[in-house]
Amino acid sequence: FNVPAPINEPVYSYAPGTKERAALRDAIQEARAQVVDVPMYIGGKEVHTDKKVKMTPPHDHKHVLGYYSQGSKEHIKEAIDAALTAKEGWENLPWEQRAAIFLKAAELISTKYRYKLNAATMLGQSKNPYQAEIDSACEIVDFLRFNVKYMSEIYQQQPPANSKGVWNRVEQRPLEGFVFALTPFNFTAIAGNLPTSVAMMGNVVVWKPSNTQIYSANVLMQIFKEAGLPDGVINLVYVSGPDAGDVIFKHPDFAGIHFTGSTGVFQDIWKTIGENIHVYKTYPRIVGETGGKDFIVAHPSADLDVLNTALVRGAFEFQGQKCSAASRAYIPQSIWNDLKVKMEKDINSFKIGGTEDFSNFINAVIDEKSFDKIASYIDRAKASPDAEVIIGGTYDKSEGYFISPTVILAKTPDYETLSEELFGPVLTIYVYEDDKWSEMLKLVDNTSIYALTGAIISQDRYAIDEATYALRNAAGNFYINDKCTGAVVGQQPFGGARGSGTNDKAGSMINLLRWVSPRTIKETF
Ligand code: GLU
Repeated sequence: FNVPAPINEPVYSYAPGTKERAALRDAIQEARAQVVDVPMYIGGKEVHTDKKVKMTPPHDHKHVLGYYSQGSKEHIKEAIDAALTAKEGWENLPWEQRAAIFLKAAELISTKYRYKLNAATMLGQSKNPYQAEIDSACEIVDFLRFNVKYMSEIYQQQPPANSKGVWNRVEQRPLEGFVFALTPFNFTAIAGNLPTSVAMMGNVVVWKPSNTQIYSANVLMQIFKEAGLPDGVINLVYVSGPDAGDVIFKHPDFAGIHFTGSTGVFQDIWKTIGENIHVYKTYPRIVGETGGKDFIVAHPSADLDVLNTALVRGAFEFQGQKCSAASRAYIPQSIWNDLKVKMEKDINSFKIGGTEDFSNFINAVIDEKSFDKIASYIDRAKASPDAEVIIGGTYDKSEGYFISPTVILAKTPDYETLSEELFGPVLTIYVYEDDKWSEMLKLVDNTSIYALTGAIISQDRYAIDEATYALRNAAGNFYINDKCTGAVVGQQPFGGARGSGTNDKAGSMINLLRWVSPRTIKETF
């Protein structure tokens, strides 16, 4: 069985004058003209409740996108029941039939729903056309197509060796029970990937998205249905974290969690699973991608333009709301002044504003909680003798949650924004003495609890080699002479260890293998 060979989905530029740009504008206008009533999807049924929660664009408090129906513990129970009911039919469907559904979903996004899904991501999560295209057009399509390929490889693996009179087989069974997908706001692609990668391997899923991504999750769910996903295989519910946890983590059929979100939440979940371990039929699979405090280290030999681009794009694209965002940088004294001039010029040229104006580079951060958190770090930096806000540092939530791209200069290597994750457009720079290069590498390795992404910018091959080794455990994705963001599915499997997660690489065979439980069969003649 050959599956179609995946190639990365081409990225549209949405340049002025193109028909794609006009189509995206139309989709945005159409979405803005509607007030949607978003249901939960349980066992294939659309479920509405009386508790309607308003959805507004993070960049425009005045506009109402629609309302979603808030569910309760009862809905979680129903979703689990619906999943378990769908299980037998789904897991017995030949894998090629399952694969075809996800390939069709990819095709629908690529052709029919590209603008609609991008518009939903732009309005609901405040992304500009470029950011939305990378996320809710290309990355989700890539996840679906590449995962189908990895899935086909798992099901067609070389069988084990045999001996005389013996036939050995390994069967890749789905997990026994249901899987919980708890997904983040920052990427529509990740939100779509977490339940689909699990379902692909024959599992049934209860999917709880972030409240701030429900608007685009609804579009995704409709696409999965149109692609032929049977009722109950993925059930989409909107309930509070405590309500969900209370039912899911006490259920005997809980078989695993596929998570992307904060380190704190993941650790609490792990603890709760541990406390309930005696309840489950089987040890649940725990797969999570959590925080990051991602670094760029510059060697004195660094090409200044390469370094500047890596810093500015790595830190501020996507409003810094990436687990992989460059949020700390280590710059040698000898190049700092020249670099600062370049950074200031670029950063001050960025336009900030709503996503409907396609020329805005920086959009709003996701919600008030996030805004207040980031603003409080900026305020503390302004007041601290150990830091100086050298670029940006302004914020305004009157119309939307806007924070200007901000650069903090840390005067001590343990300043708080060098180790704590802010998840916003804030970069902290630490300037080191050129002759302290090797000590600086140790510092980078020891400063934060995270280990997701990192980059070295250098033209000196010995320095690159030294950094690659010294920082071998400091990042699951390591970049040489590039920014530390923008992993492409199929090219750079993504994920990190330490406080950043279980490093089961999103968009890889490693990840899909977590969602099967192999059975070895030995037959003797
Ligand atoms: N995969 C994305 C990147 O490489 C980041 C995903 C995330 O923020 O979790 O930039």
